Amino acid sequence: MDFELSKEHVMLQEMVRNVAGKEIQPYAREVDETGEMRLETFKKLGELGLLGIPFPEKYGGAGGDTISYCIAVEEIGKACGGTGLSYAANTSLGASPIYYFGTEEQKRKWLVPMAKGETLGAFGLTEPNAGSDAGGTRTKAVLDNDEWVINGEKCWITNAAYARQVIVTAVTGTKKDGRPIISAIIVPTNTPGVTITSPYDKMGVRGSNTCQIVLENVRVPRENLLGDEKKGFSQFLYTLDGGRISIAALSVGIAQAAFEKALRFAKERKQFGQSISKFQAIQFKLADMAMEIELARNEVYKAAWLKDQGKPFAKEAAFAKLFASEMGFRVCNQAIQIHGGSGYMREYEVERYLRDIKLMEIGEGTSEIQRLVIARQLGC
Ligand SMILES: Cc1cc2nc3c(=O)[nH]c(=O)nc-3n(C[C@H](O)[C@H](O)[C@H](O)COP(=O)(O)OP(=O)(O)OC[C@H]3O[C@@H](n4cnc5c(N)ncnc54)[C@H](O)[C@@H]3O)c2cc1C
Repeated sequence: MDFELSKEHVMLQEMVRNVAGKEIQPYAREVDETGEMRLETFKKLGELGLLGIPFPEKYGGAGGDTISYCIAVEEIGKACGGTGLSYAANTSLGASPIYYFGTEEQKRKWLVPMAKGETLGAFGLTEPNAGSDAGGTRTKAVLDNDEWVINGEKCWITNAAYARQVIVTAVTGTKKDGRPIISAIIVPTNTPGVTITSPYDKMGVRGSNTCQIVLENVRVPRENLLGDEKKGFSQFLYTLDGGRISIAALSVGIAQAAFEKALRFAKERKQFGQSISKFQAIQFKLADMAMEIELARNEVYKAAWLKDQGKPFAKEAAFAKLFASEMGFRVCNQAIQIHGGSGYMREYEVERYLRDIKLMEIGEGTSEIQRLVIARQLGC
């Protein structure tokens, strides 16, 4: 593949870089310290059409491709990892499943306002006893006449406190082989019986909202079922494949920010009568960082391109997510090393990048699960 970004991609990159530099980066430290997501930022991103990049115009989106969306995630993540996570989760997990699997009516009701940036959404899969093993879901939904009655608990759900609706996975029956049937149901967050709290004090991505959701006899109309009742499991696997590309893009953005700070610092900092960038030990670190970031970015674009072509992309999405997140951790760690003691100080911000990037090796499938996904694709 002879790859080059199109003129439109480059224009979008410049636009998002500019907006992120003015509207997001200046608040990155503040949201990290307060642990509060900044809603004004999302209002602005919505006004600029950035919350609906990969959705068709008829659903309020910008009609862009996955590469465009990844470019936006990278630039936003470069400015602030927490904001980048909330941005990516909103589009990949909150809105995309409705676009992929929703009825026309569901798209009009839930996707259009999200794509226009008027509302936010969330995706509730993880439970206290069902993380990597999502098949262990215990939340249950039972049909009572024309309503689903849902009971259960979800943990660590991004954006839930600000979401108009959460897509919740729940057991709705049992297969012939005894395994649970897991379905996805759209739950408006203002439904009686839904309790959303934010009890977590996180290590990083602190500008992103993370919540616990308790569902007690929550009743929603039967038509809130998303997609095929029996295929909820495969639907969310497909959703996560797409989401992984955006987590990889976010990792590239955070790593790029750490690299740029380290390069600048290395040129400015003098020891032994010269700039530390003149020491080969530091040069080799910077060379490896630049190379690994570029390789990860290329894999993000490849996975995004495959998805846009309608070709299988699960393996490449796992490659991208696994490589970019682990690469990002190495890069952010080396960025601190290059800063020496300064890197350990909050003022220099590189320690935040390391705290933020760690989540990328955990969320939307841990590194271990990515290796399992890849091994399965290899026929193991
Ligand atoms: C900030 C944040 C935001 C999040 N946002 C969301 C969200 O919006 N929606 C949502 O649904 N979830 C969300 N999550 C949850 C996230 O997706 C899970 O934390 C993740 O999938 C891992 O699950 P777990 O934490 O239960 O770890 P576990 O599954 O308990 O894993 C613990 C360890 O065991 C390893 N392990 C587990 N199974 C295997 C295996 N078969 N082989 C080898 N190793 C294995 C794991 O890799 C890991 O190292 C979020 C989490 C965080 C921290």
